[in-house]
Amino acid sequence: MSGIAVLVDHDRGVPSGGALEALTSARALAADMSADLDAVILGDGDLFDAHGADLVAICAAYGAAAVHCGRHQFLADYGPDAWGAALAEFVETAAPLAVVAAGTDRGAEAMAQLAARTNLPLVANCVNVSPKGSPADASTAPSAGGAWHVTRIQWGGSLLEDVTLTSTLPLLTIAQHSIEAEPREDGPLPAAVADFEPDLGPEVQQTLVRDRVTLAEGVTLSTAPVVVSGGRGVGSADGFAPLEELAELLGGRVGCSRAVTNNGWRSHADQVGQTGTRIAPEIYIACGISGAIQHWVGAMGSKNILAINIDPEANMVTKAGYAVIADLHEVVPAICDEIRRRRDRPS
Ligand SMILES: Cc1cc2nc3c(=O)[nH]c(=O)nc-3n(C[C@H](O)[C@H](O)[C@H](O)COP(=O)(O)OP(=O)(O)OC[C@H]3O[C@@H](n4cnc5c(N)ncnc54)[C@H](O)[C@@H]3O)c2cc1C
Repeated sequence: MSGIAVLVDHDRGVPSGGALEALTSARALAADMSADLDAVILGDGDLFDAHGADLVAICAAYGAAAVHCGRHQFLADYGPDAWGAALAEFVETAAPLAVVAAGTDRGAEAMAQLAARTNLPLVANCVNVSPKGSPADASTAPSAGGAWHVTRIQWGGSLLEDVTLTSTLPLLTIAQHSIEAEPREDGPLPAAVADFEPDLGPEVQQTLVRDRVTLAEGVTLSTAPVVVSGGRGVGSADGFAPLEELAELLGGRVGCSRAVTNNGWRSHADQVGQTGTRIAPEIYIACGISGAIQHWVGAMGSKNILAINIDPEANMVTKAGYAVIADLHEVVPAICDEIRRRRDRPS
């Protein structure tokens, strides 16, 4: 019988934490169904020469009975089209019972590509998956277009939804941190290694990693004790200069809303929220941010919130412990001036 296939997403040979969680979750599903766990790793010859043995050992430690290594020059680094096309080819030949990946950026993107290429439904951010009916039914259910019971995270983690998925081949991503990554208790399995070479055309190189930028050292958005975030109300990329100054004075980092990244004013790495970074600073200063639910779920772990907004009814204002109802372009420089004045004042 075919197994539960897991796409092991990795960054140049290092599997993501989410991939290990996905392997753990899929191992439980495979056990429920008396099926094997099959790992799928994509890369080129150089990647497998350098990291193949380690990757196979990790997959075996997490219970993979077989590791399928998709090799192609276009898989030298991550590319959503190339990964999606390679996965689609694997699915067609291996006919797994289900395909699982981590709910990481790479996992979610590759699975969306797979879903589009196979015209199959994808259920994202699952926390629990089981075939409906008895485990004995499960092995026959998928080929009959069987039903699956899935619990998934919705609304950025604010609700859990139970759904019934009817599909000949369920495509699932596992919500990050919904399960602890745990290697197999009884030690690694002697995993069989099988190479396959997907037939990839140059069109899969549409989206490529061309450059890697090292993020500035020091505090990161997710660990900063102070985050000064700007939203659409900031008005422009240049409008962030006073927020940068305030963040520097407070030893913090600048964040932003998606309206800002959508406008190209700042990079996605600075985005706070459901599709950005979840933060938990001592102080969150939200400037010109309305506080939409998708932003709030990323900011709600903050210990204290100061909202600066012209609208007293804005969600962020009503949820914040402190608020200044005024133009941020006046308030933020005034706070910076006051901090400097107090620091310069002889004690
Ligand atoms: C699937 C999905 C995922 C999403 N993920 C995210 C996410 O991760 N993060 C995120 O942020 N959003 C996310 N969004 C978008 C979210 O729904 C909102 O559209 C976005 O957060 C709004 O950004 P904003 O608050 O900057 O803009 P707006 O909602 O336009 O609010 C601007 C605010 O600025 C105030 N303002 C204007 N001028 C000034 C001024 N001079 N001084 C002070 N205040 C001023 C206004 O009163 C208003 O409250 C997501 C949406 C979807 C559908």
